[in-house]
Amino acid sequence: MNKITFFLLLSFILIGCKSKKEVSTTTSKLKKDKTAIKYANTITVDDAEELVFTLASEKFEGRSTGEKGQKKAAKYLAYKYGINGIPKFFEKNYFQTIPIENLTNKRRKFTPSHPSENVVAFIEGTEKPEEILIISSHYDHMGIKDGEVYLGADDNASGTTAVLEIAQAFAKAKKDGHGPKRSIMFVNFTGEERGLLGSKYFVANPIIPLKNVVANLNIDMIGRMGYEHPEDDNYVYVIGADRLSTELHDLNERMNATYTKLDLDYKYNEKSDPNRFYKRSDHYNFAKNGIPIIFYFNGVHEDYHKPSDTPDKILLDLLVKRTKLVFHTAWEIANRKDRLVVDVTDTE
Ligand SMILES: [Zn+2]
Repeated sequence: MNKITFFLLLSFILIGCKSKKEVSTTTSKLKKDKTAIKYANTITVDDAEELVFTLASEKFEGRSTGEKGQKKAAKYLAYKYGINGIPKFFEKNYFQTIPIENLTNKRRKFTPSHPSENVVAFIEGTEKPEEILIISSHYDHMGIKDGEVYLGADDNASGTTAVLEIAQAFAKAKKDGHGPKRSIMFVNFTGEERGLLGSKYFVANPIIPLKNVVANLNIDMIGRMGYEHPEDDNYVYVIGADRLSTELHDLNERMNATYTKLDLDYKYNEKSDPNRFYKRSDHYNFAKNGIPIIFYFNGVHEDYHKPSDTPDKILLDLLVKRTKLVFHTAWEIANRKDRLVVDVTDTE
């Protein structure tokens, strides 16, 4: 090899390395944000244990939409937001009341006995309060059937626990002068198990202009191992992140690479997947309105929609780790300079 050929070859290799590096920046680590870590660490196994075991206890009677147990659960959520210093959104209380006719699902032969409630808490942004990130979970479940209480620990006491923990972390940060630049709304939906009815009502009767919603991070079942993962796996399914915003997908990957190091499983994000999970929880009502979403999920397991979905089976360490990923992604969305760009239009 002569000198010229050698230098030509060397420069091709160097150019090759450079472009490869540029391509991989989406998963590269960022410098760690110590402030974000400080508040992520307020999300603890002890807190999660108390919340999961309370929300999935028999006293809430399986939290069926419009029934006594669901209302007790709504009051408990409002109480928890209150004592943790997370303000109510409405002047009077934390509840968006939904009339019976909006909670009736003829196809599923469901009519509730009473109106029901979405629970809404709100932390106002310090610099761009009109731009709002929504972090959500459904807290309703299937109630009592044939005398058996469907406790719904994974579905979805786990996600509701995550939302409460993320809310208290942001509230503590705000109290210490590190409040999010954009506003964050925390919503616990009712009526999900009866056909995504609480979120359907929420987007049809918006309490804030939907055009101001920068993203929705929805958490539904993050406390267990799904069928397709071995016992000690360290993963979460990420669904929908790239359908409307490439930036959102990249940002979530970066936060995971920097802080939580979970395996992000995109299997259920494939459009060919017959389960169609992308359309099966509350985030879909936001996606339909052009709002970028991420659905965090552990997949189904043998106790899915059975009375055996009990709190003793929740993997608390994993629940906390997955919650921290959502927290860091939320922290970045709420504090970054620019609003997330919607650059894809794909809600199918
Ligand atoms: Zn669910």
